[in-house]
Amino acid sequence: MKQEPDLSRIQELMKSGRLSAAGFLGDDTRPLSDIMEQDFLELKKLGLTHHGVADPLERIMKEGRKGFGNPVQVGETLTVTVDENRGVVPCPFRHGHLSRKIDALVKNNKNSRILRYSDLSIHLIREHGFYQGKGSPYRLEPREILEVLGEFLKRE
Ligand SMILES: [Zn+2]
Repeated sequence: MKQEPDLSRIQELMKSGRLSAAGFLGDDTRPLSDIMEQDFLELKKLGLTHHGVADPLERIMKEGRKGFGNPVQVGETLTVTVDENRGVVPCPFRHGHLSRKIDALVKNNKNSRILRYSDLSIHLIREHGFYQGKGSPYRLEPREILEVLGEFLKRE
């Protein structure tokens, strides 16, 4: 699908070494609009929504921050470890939003599956429906989100 010039400019900024060393696209060569649309369809198939994913990710990160770098148990199944750094990172969609440099590593102790995400990941999902390109270190695969977070997710 051909995408609007605005999205093409944003996609350019998302490449590695522009706004962040790793970038947001990994080795995904699809147009940004296709990446977002396909994740949206996958999410829908799983009975999930962007908000239904972003809200629990945010809540779990908030719990994890109480550990000051040490693992925190969340509910019966999850362990979250949060790493906070100074500074902010700009949203690549360029509307002035800045996210804090906070990383979370969540482990589901029942199936040993892991999710890694940042404060910016939450914003990108909630506001833009963007889960990053395949191969990006912060790529969140909808199916993996479901496997790790399970009952923490609001499903439709
Ligand atoms: Zn944004």
